This record gives sequence, C-alpha cells and structure tokens, in this order.
Amino acid sequence: MNFEFKNFELTNNIVICTHVNPDGDAIGSSLALKHYLERKGKQATVIVPNVFPDFLRWLPGAENVLVQTNQTHKEQIKAAIDAADFIIVCDLNQPNRLAGLEETVMASQAPRILIDHHLNPDTNFCQTIVSHPEMCAAAEVICHMLNEWGELDSISFEEATCLYCAMMCDTGAFSFNSNRPIIYEYISHLLARGIDKDQIYRNVFWTASEGRLRLQGYLLYVNMKVLHDRNATIITLTNEERRRFKVKNGDTEGIVNIPLQMLGTRLSIFINEDTEHPGTMKLSLRSVGDFPCDQMASRFFGGGGHKNASGGKLQCTMEEALEKVKAAIGSYADMLKV
Ligand code: 5GP
Ligand code: MN
Repeated sequence: MNFEFKNFELTNNIVICTHVNPDGDAIGSSLALKHYLERKGKQATVIVPNVFPDFLRWLPGAENVLVQTNQTHKEQIKAAIDAADFIIVCDLNQPNRLAGLEETVMASQAPRILIDHHLNPDTNFCQTIVSHPEMCAAAEVICHMLNEWGELDSISFEEATCLYCAMMCDTGAFSFNSNRPIIYEYISHLLARGIDKDQIYRNVFWTASEGRLRLQGYLLYVNMKVLHDRNATIITLTNEERRRFKVKNGDTEGIVNIPLQMLGTRLSIFINEDTEHPGTMKLSLRSVGDFPCDQMASRFFGGGGHKNASGGKLQCTMEEALEKVKAAIGSYADMLKV
C-alpha cells in the first residue's frame, strides 16, 4: 500500500474533493473519509464542484459539504483550501474532472493524494496515487485501505453507512461490476457496524418525486429511440422539457440504465442538455458485456470513464448531438451485433 500514512498523521487540516456532478460514490466516499479523519482528531472539509443529487442529502455529514457553485460557500472553500495541509482527491482520474475547483486545488502547496478506481489515471497531478481500476467504487478502495491498516472493524456507523451507500450506487445496487467476493467481505464488516442496508437502498432509489416518475415515463415512451439493428438506444432531454416536468436535481440519475433492461440492448446513450451551460450536451453511456463505452466516449465525445459506464460532452444543438451519436453508434456496428 503506497498511501503515505505518515504524511496524513502529521497533518491537521484536510480537504477532500471530488468530481463534478458528484454521484453516490463521490459523496459517500468523501464523507466516509471525512468521518474517519475527524475520528482521528483532524479537521476535514468536503468540497465539491457543483450541486449533488437530493437523494444523497440524508447521508451523515452531507449538510456540511461545501459546493463551489453556491455563492455563499465560495469564501469558505477558498479559506479551507488555503488552510489545507493535505488534500485528498477522490473518485476521479484527471484534474479537469474537478471542473471549477481545479484551479484552486492545483494552486495549493499542500500535498495531494488520489484515491480512485477509474482506468488510466493521470499520474502527474497528485504526489501519491492509490488507483485500483479493478475495484467497484472509490469506497471499495477505502475499505481496502482500512482493511490493510486493520481498522475495518473499528469504523463508526457513519463511516460504514457512507461506504455502503457509495458502493451500492456505483454498482447499481450490486447488479453490475460487483462479482469480486472481497466486496461482500467488506460489506459484512459494514453490516457488523449496524448499518441498515435496506433503508440505505430506499433512501437512494425509492425517493423519486412525481416529476421524476412522470419524466421517466415520458422519456421512455416518447423520446427513446431504439436502433434495433444496432442493439442500441438513445434518450434525449432538453432544458425545455426539464422545465415542463419540473425536473429537480438528481431526477435524471439512473435513467440511462433503464433501456438496458430490454432484452438484446447492449448500449444505452442519454443526451442531456446541461442546465448550467445551455448549448452543451452531456452524454452518459452505459453498456452490458464487452462493449467499451469509455473508448467510444473518448473517440467521439471528448470524455472517458469505465468500460460499461462513461460520459462526455458535445457543444452543439440537441439535433446535431443526436446525429453525432447515431454516427458514433454506426461506427461500432460490428461490435454491437449480437
Ligand atoms: P455519468 O454518466 O454518470 O455522468 O458518468 C459515468 C462515468 O463516466 C463517470 O463515473 C466518469 O467516470 C465518466 N465520465 C462522465 N463524464 C465524463 C467526462 O466528461 N470525461 C471523462 N473523462 N469521464 C467522464
Ligand atoms: Mn466511482
């Protein structure tokens, strides 16, 4: 284990930051680290580039997360980074995934450590790299570290809750990327801390608003295009539709996975107009089996990610994005055949 534990022991003010559009693993892992470090007598602040979904707000410590795009948090974020003597970068593999936080984080003189599970990490932006692409979540990397230190059995209920939630979110409730037996060994330690995994599941997946459910119906019934000869689907969502359905933050989370429930579908792409930057189309790609979403995202959409879950961006109209996505799918026609 190459984590410079001694460095951390000598520090007092720690900043934990994670990727733009933070998901369950990003927030859960960051908060687990915060609780752990606070238990060790450190000051730890979680900072995120933009707002995170409402279905993660119940997580212990979520109320103290500082959000860069929130005007009232800006000063506190600057102060926390200025005061930091150690920065943990969690659940991302390139500094540009820090979006609006990248400049301040990179300008800090504090040593940085990366804790991540994405493929091909940039090895130049943190002094210490703990990268495990074979692991299901950044939270699994943290469980692995705690286990190596013999601390997995002494973690708190809050730490265990955050770690479980993070792994559950990055594996679709253990329905993909979750075959390694060790994951369940870690989970048994987390359960022994008294966590309620059924409640955690309900908190994340069964808290939809009426708008979300109706939006889901609309997107599947009206907007989903099924490219039968390609075993692929495309769903689009514009800001105009978002307003019409009163879509709230996080309401679109997971919708990209739904078309994969259809027998034979190998690739699902969701084109989502960026709420903060109209004219930017955010793409989410999901696949089953060997189809390399990360390769498609980096070749066609300036992005990347994991083999079965990746993302990217296009600067164009929705109509143009749709054509570009169809062309990208066309160029993988051979691989998409069953
Ligand atoms: P999502 O579809 O949930 O936004 O993203 C799925 C995964 O794709 C993320 O966990 C991340 O690994 C990756 N990803 C999403 N957007 C981008 C992007 O713009 N660039 C890169 N390199 N990866 C991305
Ligand atoms: Mn993750």
